[in-house]
Amino acid sequence: NPFAHTTFVMSCAKLEQLPADGAPELAFVGRSNAGKSSALNTLCQQKTLARVSKTPGRTQLINLFALRGGQSRLVDLPGYGYAAVPDAIRRDWGKLIGGYLETRDTLKTLAVIMDCRHPLTDLDEQMLDWAQAYGRPCHVLLTKCDKLSRGAGAATLLQVRQALKARGPGFTAQLFSSHTPTGVDEARAALAAALVA
Ligand code: GDP
Repeated sequence: NPFAHTTFVMSCAKLEQLPADGAPELAFVGRSNAGKSSALNTLCQQKTLARVSKTPGRTQLINLFALRGGQSRLVDLPGYGYAAVPDAIRRDWGKLIGGYLETRDTLKTLAVIMDCRHPLTDLDEQMLDWAQAYGRPCHVLLTKCDKLSRGAGAATLLQVRQALKARGPGFTAQLFSSHTPTGVDEARAALAAALVA
């Protein structure tokens, strides 16, 4: 597992606080409650690496983790789309995430976490637009696929892949579940490959 032995490095509230060195980064983004923390924990085989949120949308922190002793990094970006978030925080979120995606030279690739029952929301499309504009490849994890029948999951995957096709070859998708678990090896392989590409 390329994501074993991942360790917490630091939290940043501002882009200026991010470390400046050149380790390539894989960033996780997604709508609050889509299963981002669970996916991170599952991929890294750790129970509490990322906190599974009981009150989604509160923290606006970028959390950095070191992979393989710092050869590369995982970056957990704050979740979006939580209804009860005040406008000011929403604007801060846009500045933080948009700024990170635009300016972070070491950002190699994104893991975009979507609940497979509600994929491609407006804010997901906004993320994909930014990623496309700034030339960042995206691998979409359609999480909680244990909640769908096999047929419904396959149909959703097909539909999402179809939608991503227009954005170019750097936009891929797969089914994923942290609970069953499903698609874990596939996700590790795809994300690790994108990180070193
Ligand atoms: P985050 O806000 O995106 O970090 O989402 P969390 O990882 O905190 O998960 C939100 C909720 O969805 C929690 O109650 C999790 O137990 C649940 N959840 C996360 N992943 C899965 C999954 O693969 N299958 C199912 N059935 N539930 C999940």
